[in-house]
Amino acid sequence: DLGYMTSEKAYRIVLAGDAAVGKSSFLLRLCKNEFKLNSSATLGVDFQMKTLIVDGEPVLLQLWDTAGQERFRSIAKSYFRRADGVLLLYDVTCEKSFLNVRDWVDMIEQDVSREDIPIMLVGNKCDLRPEAGNCVPTSYGEKLAMTYNTLFCETSAKDGSNILEAVLHLARQVTKYA
Ligand code: GDP
Repeated sequence: DLGYMTSEKAYRIVLAGDAAVGKSSFLLRLCKNEFKLNSSATLGVDFQMKTLIVDGEPVLLQLWDTAGQERFRSIAKSYFRRADGVLLLYDVTCEKSFLNVRDWVDMIEQDVSREDIPIMLVGNKCDLRPEAGNCVPTSYGEKLAMTYNTLFCETSAKDGSNILEAVLHLARQVTKYA
């Protein structure tokens, strides 16, 4: 990504959410257009660069994965302190990951006021909805997003649906706020 080589300002986007909700897969789909069914490990790097065209202008994003550090909250917190925006993921097939969204928002708010940092709430793995029995209904995600005054969408890192759209919407907010 040539944008990375320039001194252009990069906006820092942090991916948050429980382990296994699909953060690494989300980044892999966004940046490499790939998907791995058993992506056990991380991408092996702290962040990925991605240039998007937002309203006709190139916007350089530095996307940080908190991979493997979900349990080391003090480390995760230091990511939020310097973030321009957050992609907060849960897994629509895992109710616990949805219930934990509140903890993640609380943690983000300990360091930054929510008005200063746009958040996109993302219900990932929506491709599994037809086959998985007990999924978090879309309306629950919408309601939670309204409570927190955040953006919301459902995505699939597997089939790619809404991945780019989610990041574009967030990038639009982030550039507006910055
Ligand atoms: P992370 O721990 O949040 O980074 O989660 P991973 O990206 O490692 O994903 C955990 C598991 O869920 C992996 O086996 C992925 O292949 C799978 N996964 C991630 N996103 C999706 C998705 O959108 N659909 C489906 N069906 N599986 C997914």
